[in-house]
Amino acid sequence: MNSDKQTAVLEPPPTPRRVRGATMRANVFHGPNEIRVEEVPRPRAGVGEAVIRITLTTICGTDLHILRGEYPVKSGLVIGHEPVGVIEELGDGVHGYEIGDRVLLGAITPCGQCRACLSAQWAQCGHGDGYEALGGWRFGNTINGAQAEFLLVPNAQANLAKIPDELSDEQVVLLADIASTGFSGAESAKIKIGDSVVVFAQGPIGLCATAGAKLLGASFIIGVDSDPVRMKMARQMGADVVLDPNGCDVVAEVKRLTGGGADVSIEALGLQVTFENALRCLRPGGTLSSLGVYSGKLAVPYDAFAAGIGDYKIVTTLCPGGKERMRRLMSMVQTGRFDPTPLITHRFALDDIVEAYDLFGSRRDGVLKVAIRP
Ligand SMILES: [Zn+2]
Ligand SMILES: [Zn+2]
Repeated sequence: MNSDKQTAVLEPPPTPRRVRGATMRANVFHGPNEIRVEEVPRPRAGVGEAVIRITLTTICGTDLHILRGEYPVKSGLVIGHEPVGVIEELGDGVHGYEIGDRVLLGAITPCGQCRACLSAQWAQCGHGDGYEALGGWRFGNTINGAQAEFLLVPNAQANLAKIPDELSDEQVVLLADIASTGFSGAESAKIKIGDSVVVFAQGPIGLCATAGAKLLGASFIIGVDSDPVRMKMARQMGADVVLDPNGCDVVAEVKRLTGGGADVSIEALGLQVTFENALRCLRPGGTLSSLGVYSGKLAVPYDAFAAGIGDYKIVTTLCPGGKERMRRLMSMVQTGRFDPTPLITHRFALDDIVEAYDLFGSRRDGVLKVAIRP
């Protein structure tokens, strides 16, 4: 017997890293075209809340709208709504979790208690009361967000989704928003096995809508985009054909390819022209599933809408959130049904996030999504 073993001293268990400082680094919105990383007060968990040490986050197209002043948020807000991290603090009343657990949080954090939540309309959560339009979207909208070292999580019990050990941060970070949103565009359209589907715009959300259509059983998927990187990625995510709107009449081509019009069209850009084309591409009785965020007025043309009696369905969806939605999406990655990692094209440190916004906003260098590590 080896005598060393008898005298070996047990190593103490590793303690989770704790940062006891009163401040943290965070990306703060100060007004249109004015964001910067600075020291802000570090959050503390109250009753029903948790604090997450962020290990990975990203920048969303919606953050660009905020930066450009096209979607109003208050000055001084920490922005970002796609958080992956480790539980740092648990407030009273949050059960079943340990400090140090790895967790994913949806961009939408429903309370789980209000009329909206209990009617499965989590994105329109009214926080303990009735419905509130977009009320479920809080991070980086109405409360401090994820582009920071730490994040305060409200209604933690409904929102902390434990990450399976075998999944990396990069495998789950895009589930918080773009995969949940893109898939929901396909789900809301109630895509059936054998459907033909056209997806307008193959940005990150449109690409996930394409993947969602394939997962739901579409037999033929047409992606629409003019960017060569996005056109190539559309095929990787499940598109059979990709149409460049600068090179063809998309509506005529979709009608030709589908024998008279698609069963489902998904709009993932938020422009009048794409909304209208998405409607014109449909067969009578088809479904337009709209994910775009529109500004100003959106018109439904009389002829494309068959005077209102063509049995068309128009549905809209905001990203579904909550821990059960995140668990389901992670299970798709775990079993190899869906791999979001090809969409992460660039990586930055939190301190360089302004540079990352510039790259993401200009769509330079084939960028799709950027991973941000505090
Ligand atoms: Zn987003
Ligand atoms: Zn609620």
